[in-house]
Amino acid sequence: MKDFVADLFFHFFIMMMIPFINIILSRYKKGLKTNSIFLLTILFSLILSMSFPVKVGDGIAFDLKFIPVFISFFYIGPIAGGITVVAILGVNILEEHMELLVLFINYLIITPLFGFVYKCYQIGNPWKKLCIGIAFYLLITGSRTIALIQSGHSNDFVYLFSFSIVSFLTLAIIIYLIEMNKLQIAMLEQLQNADKLNAVSQLAASVAHEIRNPMTTIRGFLQILKDEDNLTSKQGMFLSISLDELDRTQNIIGDFLSLARPTNNYFESISLSQTLVDVAQFMHPFAVMSNVNLITNIEGNLVINGNTNECKQVFINLIKNAIEAMPSGGNLELFAYKENENAIINITDEGIGIDPIQIKQLGQPYYSTKTKGTGLGLMISFDIIKRMNGDYKIISKVNVGTTFHLSFPM
Ligand code: ADP
Ligand code: MG
Repeated sequence: MKDFVADLFFHFFIMMMIPFINIILSRYKKGLKTNSIFLLTILFSLILSMSFPVKVGDGIAFDLKFIPVFISFFYIGPIAGGITVVAILGVNILEEHMELLVLFINYLIITPLFGFVYKCYQIGNPWKKLCIGIAFYLLITGSRTIALIQSGHSNDFVYLFSFSIVSFLTLAIIIYLIEMNKLQIAMLEQLQNADKLNAVSQLAASVAHEIRNPMTTIRGFLQILKDEDNLTSKQGMFLSISLDELDRTQNIIGDFLSLARPTNNYFESISLSQTLVDVAQFMHPFAVMSNVNLITNIEGNLVINGNTNECKQVFINLIKNAIEAMPSGGNLELFAYKENENAIINITDEGIGIDPIQIKQLGQPYYSTKTKGTGLGLMISFDIIKRMNGDYKIISKVNVGTTFHLSFPM
């Protein structure tokens, strides 16, 4: 029994190498090099664990080889997972454990299951990841129990049970450590982002204003020049293009300036319903021009705390994005209703959608997939929503559409 407990601790500490190295490596840029080092660590702990299995009674041996497979598959990638499985089979041949066929069949079943939940795992929150880990461990414990009973070792069940608990705890601790570390790094990045944002708004404040005034003058003179009678058609065309480009530049500067507006936290009770109706009316021509059918269903009496202009800016940004996401037209729904003392607004389009990786980047300064985009619209909108104590959620499916789900306390 003493040996058994000591063995369990030994295996636990071997496996703790994995999160330890992961945390160290996460300080460096993720790439082939860091991934290879991480995989080597995993393989090292795998080989250690397999070389000194926990021996129980007559010839039954447990080891923790499942954990390296799990971690390499989900935290490096399917290829690394495959390499780990091959390593397991290799060690088995070398050490003549003679379980080759059983192992091979085991991993023939497990690998497709891994592939099946891979996507789910990548986008899930830490809890979901833990649950997936538990599910796999239950599966393995189940199959081990059956094997134990079949081979007539059912009185070793206590060992299997305690071993399974230790191995599950080990996996859970590894996932927890890796995920917490990830969260910390994400927070650090957010902080740096906020810093960038600060720099952006300060720049915007000083530069944008200085540029806007001379541009208004230039635009005025170009307009006068364009209205002259004795222009050749070519000259007229050049002037039109120049005016268009100036307007575009002015739009961008407008975006910059709204970024730099002094953040006054002066909020008042405003009618969200009226604001939405106004915005829908304002955006109607743009929607028609893009073949988009704007469907509104706005409950009256939605009152929230905020600033009408900022609030309008948010909805104009979101509706504009939704329309731009449907280059060949479609339906755009703008629904607003009351739910549990919250005002809910859903803006749903049938556009190109956003993939899960992109969703994470939304709201970062300059993140835009459009050739003429500024990538500032969402950043400003999210900032305003946050200051109004609101909340947002983006639900999107590529080529199906996107819903921006907003809620504000009433
Ligand atoms: P911009 O519109 O200038 O590109 P935004 O900050 O408004 O900047 O949007 C950033 C990016 O988010 C867009 O370039 C687009 O890729 C994506 N996006 C925003 N809303 C939607 C939507 N409704 N459907 C698809 N993609 C969207
Ligand atoms: Mg936009």
